[in-house]
Amino acid sequence: MSKILIVEDEEAIADLEKDYLELSGFDVEVANDGENGLVMALEGDYDLLILDLMLPGVDGFEICRKVRDEKNTPIVMVSAKKDDIDKIRGLGLGADDYMTKPFSPSELVARVKAHLARYDRLIGSVAEKNKVMEIRGLKIDTTARRVWVNGEEKTFTTKEFDLLAFLAAHPNHVYSKDELFREIWDMESVGDIATVTVHIKKIREKIEMDTSNPQYIETIWGVGYRFKM
Ligand code: CA
Repeated sequence: MSKILIVEDEEAIADLEKDYLELSGFDVEVANDGENGLVMALEGDYDLLILDLMLPGVDGFEICRKVRDEKNTPIVMVSAKKDDIDKIRGLGLGADDYMTKPFSPSELVARVKAHLARYDRLIGSVAEKNKVMEIRGLKIDTTARRVWVNGEEKTFTTKEFDLLAFLAAHPNHVYSKDELFREIWDMESVGDIATVTVHIKKIREKIEMDTSNPQYIETIWGVGYRFKM
């Protein structure tokens, strides 16, 4: 079931949106102010965000910007003022859609469904049949076990390749070092989770332009790693 976060300070509007989305089969959570909304959006695992622009505390502009720095979750921004919508578009914050209040709940549901379907297609096309994945200049052929970075082929050891292909096939999912070790190395392997760290470092040296600011495999401090879609 798709999980949606509504960040909206007007409780009557939030309740209405929540009711309609739940009737359409979505799992919905609500934050009534900007601070909670930002924390929930960053820490929670939502499939889509509905973000009001004018909020007490942290406003919708800032939440959108901060979420986009870390995630590709579809964002629908709503505002009572048409002018604000034009302003948001102009800022290029990376929201996926904009709606002016008041809108009909059924229109909101229709747009939410459309964005979720589009996002699923995007994710699905990248991992299509797990054969060739292409992500921003990185091409991984899992059948031939070959990797190219901006057209240039790079050589990978077996485990480096397995680790990269596994992470890339599960984008935006955070894996702990333990999980990765168990996934990639079989039970008889000598080694421990430090092996994972070493392999991540070697992979980054091959695929990242700047290893101190990785664009593909991110370190989630205290948790593990995530392949950024
Ligand atoms: Ca508001």
